[in-house]
Amino acid sequence: MTSEAQRKMQFLYALRASGVTDARTLTAMERIDRAQFVRGLFADRAYEDVPLTIPCGQTISQPSIVGIMTQALQVTPRDKVLEVGTGSGYQAAILSLLARRVYTVDRYRRLVAQAREIFDALKLPNITAFTADGSFGLPDQAPFDRIIVTAAAEDPPGPLLAQLRIGGIMVVPVGQSDAVQSLIRVTRTETGFDYDELRPVRFVPLVEGLGQD
Ligand code: SAH
Repeated sequence: MTSEAQRKMQFLYALRASGVTDARTLTAMERIDRAQFVRGLFADRAYEDVPLTIPCGQTISQPSIVGIMTQALQVTPRDKVLEVGTGSGYQAAILSLLARRVYTVDRYRRLVAQAREIFDALKLPNITAFTADGSFGLPDQAPFDRIIVTAAAEDPPGPLLAQLRIGGIMVVPVGQSDAVQSLIRVTRTETGFDYDELRPVRFVPLVEGLGQD
């Protein structure tokens, strides 16, 4: 049985080995304890580099993918960020240490309620979580400097592109839900959008409407 400290060191080592090299991202991931976001059955696997099951049939992403997406988003301390797909709240908590303000939305009320409790307990006051269909973004809070989508869309949703500030960056997994998807980085320019394909990923699908739970 390895100690907690050793497991955390291995966790950070696995992040670096997967290509997470940005110092601010690594520091934020060192400070936010993933075990807080996976309760019950899987809590003792929190520091393994694997996705884990959370309520409502959803998953908390693999830490190396969280790191790669966070790093690709190039968040600055001035940024207002939108996350679509709160899930456990883990990604939003990491972003909250890097950004000025984080808005996060999920279609499941239950996940949003649980995530809010954790944000309060960890004293992360710059996160606001809403239950909403995130494919429409949050028009009242737009425009955003950064947008991160943690569920796979067939195409980057139009309302999200429209809510991205000029110079802003969006990271989104794109592709069919049952196939391997591509992680895409979209940069809004004065005249349009630039697209970079980053790597293959596998996410749960972006689903329309609110969940039952
Ligand atoms: N970022 C999360 C993991 C997200 S799992 C974490 O750090 O734990 C993907 C999440 O996207 C699920 O919770 C799912 O309910 C949510 N989701 C799927 N479609 C959505 C939509 N249209 N609007 C908002 N959330 C959505």
